[in-house]
Formats: sequence, structure tokens, C-alpha cells
Amino acid sequence: MGGFLFDDIIFGPVKSRRLGVSLGVNLLPTDYKFCTFDCIYCECGWSQKATKKIDLPTREEIKTRLETVLKQRYRDQQVIDSITFAGNGEPTIHPEFAAIIDDTIALRATYFPQALITVLSNASLVNNNQVISALQKVDKNILKLDAGTESTFQAINQPNGKLTLQQVVDYLKKFEGNLIIQTLFLKGYGQHKGIDNTTDSEVAAWLELLKEVKPKSVMIYPIERETPEASIYKVDSIQLDQIAEQVKMLGFTVEVFG
Ligand code: SF4
Repeated sequence: MGGFLFDDIIFGPVKSRRLGVSLGVNLLPTDYKFCTFDCIYCECGWSQKATKKIDLPTREEIKTRLETVLKQRYRDQQVIDSITFAGNGEPTIHPEFAAIIDDTIALRATYFPQALITVLSNASLVNNNQVISALQKVDKNILKLDAGTESTFQAINQPNGKLTLQQVVDYLKKFEGNLIIQTLFLKGYGQHKGIDNTTDSEVAAWLELLKEVKPKSVMIYPIERETPEASIYKVDSIQLDQIAEQVKMLGFTVEVFG
């Protein structure tokens, strides 16, 4: 399965259950998924070997394109609830990510001061102080934690290089609770091995990590679209609700998007 790539820097807006009317910003190439992970459920498909130099949009291009769309929607008196950094890979990979967030904060103040700025990130680059301080400035700093054990983290997220789950948890702890955790639950097979982050032992280990990270809230969701790994499947909403109950018992706010 080839996956779906956004074909522009700015996309949408789309109506999102999580974020309302969400205008997307893609800091990655439009013809190539560029990420530090290769999640088995990634809607962009599997990572491909780059066959040419990867060109990212410049800070100026992004600012100009975002301002054009915000200005037009402001003139048309249309709503924007969230300016959302997502797209074809990991947004914090962009070398000017911090400056782009500053530009977005300024544009938001001019056109849609009530809109929230959201970043969806896999947290793999939170060893960079500029990335940390940029994520501290946004309203919704939504970071991925899909596993409670190292083997499940490697199987589901397939990080580049030698990144470990413990390193990710250490990065998440740098936010001192100023973050939202998002977790996708799934079952199935990958690389001929069973994968299931919903078993009692996996969920117990993941809950222990939540206790360490102390997020403001937790978002739980299942697979919603076609996945590059064909042998994984959607967890039903009853099981997601049962996991959510355990999160609540720890005192965290939790939302299920099933
Ligand atoms: S972190 Fe996001 S963009 Fe990267 S592989 Fe995983 S799902 Fe895809």
C-alpha cells in the first residue's frame, strides 16, 4: 500500500473530532514521507529510500503560504479552531521548526487569535533544546507513546537509528507535564511476529510510563485508515474504553477517539 501524502504545505481545513476545524501545516516534502520513525500503521505508507536530495519548504515559503490562507479565511469570516502541524512525517525534523512556530504564533495573533496551535510529534527529536522550547510555546503539544515495552516500541514504531523507549520517555519527562500523550492501540502481525499493545502486561507497562511522564491528558485511538502493514487490525471501542478507565484511575484526563 502506497500511503497517502499531502500535496501542499497548507492543507484542509478538515473537521477533526480532536481539534475542531483544523488547518494543517506540512513542513515535509509533498512527494516523500520524511520521518524518524516508520510506524507499521503510518497513513503516509512505508518510508522509502531517498533517490534524490530531500527539499524541504523554506521558512519564508511556509510563512507566506500560511498567511495567504489565514488572510483569505479571515476575510471570508470562516472559522479556524486549530493550526495543526502534522503532514508527511515528523514536523520537528525541519531545521527551522522553532522559527516557524514563532512565525505561526505571530500570524495567529493577527488573524485568528482564538485558534490553538497544535503539533503532532513522535518526540524523537526532543533532545534538541530549540525543539523543546518551541513545543513549550504551542497550545497542544501532542506527543506519541504507543508502547510500554522496548520490544513493542521497536515493533510498532520502528525508529531510525538506536533510539530506545527509555530515551523517548526521558525526552517526554523534559516537558514536566506540559504535554498531551497520544497512543494508538492495535493488534496483529509485523515482520512475522505477533504485535499487540493491548495485552494486560503491555497496558500495565504503558501505565507505568504515564505515571513517570505525568501528561496533562491522554488521547487513545485505534487504526482508522488503511495501513502499510496489512496484517494489523483495529481494536474495538469496548477495549479502548477499558484501557481509558485504567488511565482515569491514575488520575489522568483521557479521551477515546474510537
Ligand atoms: S511518527 Fe507519524 S509520520 Fe512518522 S512513521 Fe509514525 S505515524 Fe508516520
